[in-house]
Amino acid sequence: MGEPLLEIRNLESFYGPIMAIRGVSLTVEPGQIVTVLGANGAGKSTLLRTISGLMDPEKGEIHFAGRPIHGQEPHKVVEAGIVHVPEGREVFPLLTVDENLTLGAYTRRDRTEIARDREKVFDYFPILAERRHQEAGTLSGGQQQMLAIGRGLMLRPRIMLLDEPSLGLSPLLVQEIFAILRRLNADEGVTMVLVEQNARVALDLAHAGYVMEIGRVVMNGSADRLKNSEDIQAFYLGQQ
Ligand code: ATP
Repeated sequence: MGEPLLEIRNLESFYGPIMAIRGVSLTVEPGQIVTVLGANGAGKSTLLRTISGLMDPEKGEIHFAGRPIHGQEPHKVVEAGIVHVPEGREVFPLLTVDENLTLGAYTRRDRTEIARDREKVFDYFPILAERRHQEAGTLSGGQQQMLAIGRGLMLRPRIMLLDEPSLGLSPLLVQEIFAILRRLNADEGVTMVLVEQNARVALDLAHAGYVMEIGRVVMNGSADRLKNSEDIQAFYLGQQ
C-alpha cells in the first residue's frame, strides 16, 4: 500500500479540563471512505474539529498527504484540500442556493472553473438546480444537507469530513444522499471520513471503520469485518 492520505497518531483534544479525544490513531488511504461510529458524546465531532483545525490538539500528530497539519489554522487546512461539512449543515439561510455554492468556492479565483463545478454539483443534486434561486433557509432538511455537501465540493476537496449527514432525515432521503456520496467517491475519487450514528448505512457505504467510545478507538477494521462483529451487531446494528 502507498502513503496514507490522512494519518492521525495518538491524538488528544480537550475542552478546558474535559479530555474529549484520548489517544486516537486513524489512517485513511487515498480513495477510501472511512466511517467513524460511536454513541452520542464519544468524541466523533471533536475528532473532525481537530482535523480541520477548529481545535488545537494537546498531543499527537495529524499528517495529510505526508505533511503535518496539526495546530494549523482552519484556512490552511482547507487550502491543503480538507473540507469539513459540519453537523447541522450550517448553510447560509438568507442566501440563495447559487450564492451558497459560490461562497463555497471562496478560496478560488478561477471563475470559469467555479461555474463549471457549480453545474457539476447540480448534476449530482438536480433538486438544487431546480431551487438555485431559492433562499437556502426555505429548503427542506435533506435539501440543506445536499447543499452543505455541494458547497464543500466547490473547494475541490481531496478529502471530505462529513459529520452525521443522515441526522434528522427520512430513511429514503438517507439512501438517496448516501448513493450520491458513493458516486462522488467512485467517479470523482473524493476520499471521505464519515462520522455517523447510523452504523448500518455507514458500514454499507464505507470501506473501513473505527468505533469510538468515550474518546477512544475501541475497534477498527474493514467494513465487512465490523458488520460481522458480534459486538457491533449487538450495540450498533441490532436496534436499527
Ligand atoms: P454527537 O454525535 O453528540 O456530536 P460526538 O461523538 O460527536 O457526539 P463530541 O461532540 O465530539 O461527541 O463530544 C465529545 C465529548 O466532549 C463529550 O463528552 C461532550 O460532552 C464534550 N463536548 C463537546 N463539545 C463540547 C464543548 N463545546 N464544551 C465542552 N465539552 C464539550
